[in-house]
Amino acid sequence: MTFEDLQLVSPILKALEDKKYTEPTAIQEKSIPIILSGDDILGSAQTGTGKTAAFAIPIIQHLIERNIPSGGKRKISTLVVTPTRELAIQIADNFSDYSKYVDISNTVIFGGVNQGPQVKALKKGVDIVIATPGRLLDLISQGYISLKEIKYFILDEADRMLNMGFINDIKKVIAMLPRQRQSLFFSATMPQNILKLSNEILVNPKKVTVNPVSSTAQTIQQYLYMTNKSSKKELLFHILKAEEITQALVFSRTKHGADRIVRNLKKQRIESAAIHGDKSQNQRQRALSQFKENKVRVLVATDIAARGIDIDKLRYVINYDIPNEPETYVHRIGRCGRAGEDGIAISICEPEENEYVRDVEKTIKKKITVATDNPFPQTDKPMNAAEKKAAEKEKQKRKQEFFANRKKKSNGQGGGKGNANNRRRRN
Ligand code: AMP
Repeated sequence: MTFEDLQLVSPILKALEDKKYTEPTAIQEKSIPIILSGDDILGSAQTGTGKTAAFAIPIIQHLIERNIPSGGKRKISTLVVTPTRELAIQIADNFSDYSKYVDISNTVIFGGVNQGPQVKALKKGVDIVIATPGRLLDLISQGYISLKEIKYFILDEADRMLNMGFINDIKKVIAMLPRQRQSLFFSATMPQNILKLSNEILVNPKKVTVNPVSSTAQTIQQYLYMTNKSSKKELLFHILKAEEITQALVFSRTKHGADRIVRNLKKQRIESAAIHGDKSQNQRQRALSQFKENKVRVLVATDIAARGIDIDKLRYVINYDIPNEPETYVHRIGRCGRAGEDGIAISICEPEENEYVRDVEKTIKKKITVATDNPFPQTDKPMNAAEKKAAEKEKQKRKQEFFANRKKKSNGQGGGKGNANNRRRRN
């Protein structure tokens, strides 16, 4: 499915193209049509599933279609309530990104900072307010925010909100909302108290569920190769010697890393291609279709680039590194074993990533099987704090040298002082 199939208007499609989103995620595919049709939603989904865009995009479309007249002070028509300042900022960034080609404004409201700038933004008039509960109530009581014109209300991460003790604040907010409105309710889990709260907010909601991230991991066979940083490349070649791996999706943390892996694989005559944020849409599309048509054996992807990819019956996922966020690991391996097929996830771990493996195992509540056919076992120890600091310093130094050299070179080409000096030296 594409975003076009979801009947989105062109300024939104253009903004999504800028974000390099190729396909809607599961929660987006399910929620966007429901929200566009005006129904309430009870959504069971957590961060990392593309949940924010799932509600932000159709709300923006509603606002475009309501054709708010420009001129005159804007009235708040959309209220998003979320538990933390970080989430509020992320949500606001999402709204700004997807509404960049239309005249719709948003602002964030959270506590712990001077309220001055927030009040100033509110006084100017704004369409969408994204707020944490405490400061929201505070500014309502001071008369800076009115909820009278709210048409769309979104309660995000409801379970976390309750765990943080916001239940009374939420109830106060709900009591102030107009009856005529569309409400969207999202929570990662749906225990009884959450369902009860949702009943007080929603009217005949449509239920939307995407699997909690940790559950996919239970059904996929997972193997771990512990190795040294310097052996990763050789180990990948070793793994790919297995003929049964006719195709594999390899994950790399960085874009440069992805390119490097492809270069190395090509030297070994293993057909491969990379997709990441620095590749054009065409290049990505080409790599993906080559992979789908079996012309390329290994597709190397960064996490963000891989989000939109949907490949049927992918059997193997290989993690060239262990992500520091367990959710990312779960997302990665969820790329194999789809639609009832069995999947195999192979992870390569260098000493610095040992602790990430422990975090992953905690999240998936399962030990990852250590592979027995490992010709390059891990012999190095993870760095201690002082070594880490020194390594980081060295890295920064190398980075600075790299940029300084690049600058020198470009000055040289431009016929600047460096060039003249070189000439003098040569003469
Ligand atoms: P969220 O679950 O809303 O926190 O989103 C997780 C991440 O996925 C964010 O970095 C989004 O920018 C990104 N994202 C959301 N939808 C898509 C999509 N359809 N394709 C690629 N990335 C997406």
